[in-house]
Amino acid sequence: MAPLTQVSELLQSTLKPHLFNDYCPNGLQVQGKEEIKLLVTGVTACQALIDKAIALKADAILVHHGFFWKNESPCVVGMKQKRLKALLLNDISLFAYHLPLDAHHELGNNVQLAKKLGLGMTGALFPDSPKQVGNVAVLDEPMLVQDFVALCEQVLLQKPIHITGNQPTIQKIGFCTGAAQGFIEQAVLMGCDAYLSGEISEPTVHVAREMGIHYFAAGHHATERYGVQAVGDFVAALLGIEHVFVDVENPV
Ligand SMILES: [Zn+2]
Repeated sequence: MAPLTQVSELLQSTLKPHLFNDYCPNGLQVQGKEEIKLLVTGVTACQALIDKAIALKADAILVHHGFFWKNESPCVVGMKQKRLKALLLNDISLFAYHLPLDAHHELGNNVQLAKKLGLGMTGALFPDSPKQVGNVAVLDEPMLVQDFVALCEQVLLQKPIHITGNQPTIQKIGFCTGAAQGFIEQAVLMGCDAYLSGEISEPTVHVAREMGIHYFAAGHHATERYGVQAVGDFVAALLGIEHVFVDVENPV
């Protein structure tokens, strides 16, 4: 058991949200009970995750995609009212960390994804803009592109959408979890022969084909499963609380 304030302070000092210009508030978004025994983590604060946390008698939830995004209506109605009501009625806190969780050098989504795929991270995707997320990895040996597709499917539990580039093998891979398909041209500038993100848009296909770079849309949810789990494990180990990751299936 740990006080809510202690959990909050540890998350803030670890993830350092003040270093980011984000599209949502990072940190404690909804305040619940004073003491935390069980922390549930998940990718998105959807109703299914909240319902599962209630069933598990969780005291707090930590997610990558929380509430109160810029440009969304601030009114507490409809889907948002149902989610908030469930949290407040059950006295469950909600912590959300977006970009700070993508970028963390040890626990973040990108580093954790690279670990899962066995990619040694060799640098930033935007070396001149330290606040931008995304990384580059160089494999020791070139890898057949179909072997990389099989690896993604095995690790991420879903087959990536693959837009074929010029070469039968890949060695320098740019990657950024989530909806970072727009960074594909940066991967080209960085001399990558492949780029991986979570989602794909119509123009991504043309960039990949015309620039000759392999593109893998490996799943927004699938690529962002790992950072929040790493942070949950880290907090639980340090403060002696319980942690359960809940994976709400999402094909995108
Ligand atoms: Zn995301």
